[in-house]
Amino acid sequence: MAQIPDTVRALMRPSAAELEPYDPAFTPVEVNLSANENSYGLPAEVRAAVNQALAEVPVNRYPDPLAGELRAEIAAYYGLAPENVICGNGGDELIYNIFLAFGGEGHMVLHCPPDFSVYELYASLAESPCESVWRDPATFAIDWEKLRARVANATVTIVTTPNNPTGTLADPAEVEALALATDGLVLVDEAYMEFADMRSCASLISHYPNILVLRTFSKAFALAGARLGYVLADPGVVSALAAVRQPYSVGVLSQTAALAAWRHRPQIQPTIDEIVQQRGELYTRLSELGDLGVTVWPSSANFLLVRLPHAHEVRCRLRDEHSVLVRDFSSAPGLTDCLRITVGTPKENKRLVDGIVSILREA
Ligand SMILES: *Cc1c(COP(=O)(O)O)cnc(C)c1O
Repeated sequence: MAQIPDTVRALMRPSAAELEPYDPAFTPVEVNLSANENSYGLPAEVRAAVNQALAEVPVNRYPDPLAGELRAEIAAYYGLAPENVICGNGGDELIYNIFLAFGGEGHMVLHCPPDFSVYELYASLAESPCESVWRDPATFAIDWEKLRARVANATVTIVTTPNNPTGTLADPAEVEALALATDGLVLVDEAYMEFADMRSCASLISHYPNILVLRTFSKAFALAGARLGYVLADPGVVSALAAVRQPYSVGVLSQTAALAAWRHRPQIQPTIDEIVQQRGELYTRLSELGDLGVTVWPSSANFLLVRLPHAHEVRCRLRDEHSVLVRDFSSAPGLTDCLRITVGTPKENKRLVDGIVSILREA
């Protein structure tokens, strides 16, 4: 990617002029455990149903702006009305739209790092001031008391559960207490909730008009490439998000693929169970590497956060010598020497562990 020349930068809006293009640090590898995708993909019969639906959908017409069919089926599943649901071009677009609708000068965003990096990026694009309540540096637990003390000053407070990149869960009772303590919005990012043994905050939507729950088809539903996420919220909040969205941002192919996958939830569930099982095994394997300096945190998502000596170098050598890609957080604040590893198939996980062991033994 070309550099942004100063002459071009001078023309950019001030909130964008400091930015660089997002780099997911992707290189082609045999084992990609870097982006928290579902390594298993869709089961063959579900993929066939998706293919069939895609083959039949007309693409000469614009999509239904609000993805009516998908919206209605998602709403029914949660016992909500279609007016409680809004779909987006991935969860990312919805986070962006939340700041577009509820951000700007004087509309503070409060969040709990280390968490998902796009919050700060999108908040700054929307010119929202961003404030942090840091998680416990050892356990990554949220400091609820501190968060509650500041929540009333924020327009949007974000709780990520399970949290990316730490895998940490948040207690829904604490989310309720947070929502009660503010007139602002509380966004609960549940991108990985399908992998957790915890109730979703979706059940709170009917009781708390200021709680928003974000979900996505990118992780458990193995549709990261389709770009489809949704927010559950009070109808008034949904309308505000609908007001700022690009009318046709969710393509007809994405809507169709997501709807077909959604209707096959029972067939997808065994894959999710398998990933949870593999997460446990990978956690055990990595925990056994304490003598090599490896620390691993318990996770309720489809990835594990590990801390190990010379993490940046280990990550490069895993990529170059073992063709295994993981995400490098080693220089991120609060995550010194940390790597985030997506749970893969048993073969992929073995290759990862063997790679880490051989690199650390050599050192
Ligand atoms: C992956 C992810 C999302 C949404 O991803 P999309 O692919 O844009 O749907 C949202 N929040 C967190 C914390 C994530 O990790």
